[in-house]
Amino acid sequence: MALPSKVKIREVAPRDGFQSWPDFIPTNRKLEIIQAMIRAGVTEIEATSFVNPKAIPQMSDATEVIKSVPRPGCNYCALVPNLKGAQMALEAGTDEIAVFISASEPHNMANVRRNITDSMADLNAIFGLAKDKGTPVIGAIVVAFGCPYQGDVPVDAVFRLADAYLSRGATAVILADTTGMATPPRIDGLVRAYKERFPNTSFGLHLHNNRGTAMANLYAALEAGVNMFDTALGGIGGCPNVPHAAGNLPTEDVVYMLEDIGVDTGIDLLAIIDAAHLLEKILGQILPGQVMKSGPRDPEIASKICSVGHA
Ligand code: ZN
Repeated sequence: MALPSKVKIREVAPRDGFQSWPDFIPTNRKLEIIQAMIRAGVTEIEATSFVNPKAIPQMSDATEVIKSVPRPGCNYCALVPNLKGAQMALEAGTDEIAVFISASEPHNMANVRRNITDSMADLNAIFGLAKDKGTPVIGAIVVAFGCPYQGDVPVDAVFRLADAYLSRGATAVILADTTGMATPPRIDGLVRAYKERFPNTSFGLHLHNNRGTAMANLYAALEAGVNMFDTALGGIGGCPNVPHAAGNLPTEDVVYMLEDIGVDTGIDLLAIIDAAHLLEKILGQILPGQVMKSGPRDPEIASKICSVGHA
């Protein structure tokens, strides 16, 4: 199958990355990074998460972030774990909300301290509220490719959640490899089964790199026709409830590869590398991204923007 000519990138560093960063990042620095992403051509940003600030203090400025992001210019999504989170996100004026439930009981319990049935019980109210506001809802299926507590996740558990989201009007579903347990054949298998079960619906993948397979998984997904991916600037990110969590696919690494194989992302490679360098400066730590260190193919540009011998 030919690769898609174009894919949609959902930039998740401001949520997935900042929530798992050990320190609270000041709101104005978060906004600076979001602005740099937009300058690079990013059009979809998961900007924050409306979670309990006692549990995840890194996201305690969620309302301020949504109210202060530059508009127009980008579609801002906010992650919500429950009805209260959805109410707050909608009040703050987010463009889109993302609900999430794990496809395994032990992970959902660890992640949101509820069983799957209780999490699903909120969906009617959340979708109803969002509909009243005219705000689209996407649904994420956490640990869709494997659970750190239970191991394999049955495909029926994934489909049950997708069905719950889509039947309530979700505009897209995200299949998340929260734990980086997928390999290319597992991606291919679930994607093809998913497309057969839910034809002509929009869905994307969220790929963590815990085991070094994330880029191979992305390529396998492209071959299976997937055209939407979550990525994070600098490759930051992680799940607080996954042992040894690793980051997401670095946005700039994905843009580099896709550009070279003729798949359009709409994102400018040099500008997104710039944004990754800004992020590294603000966080004060070397980030997992590779292309931000090695640079683009053009040796002259690479030597100018990326310091040779960067650790
Ligand atoms: Zn994630």
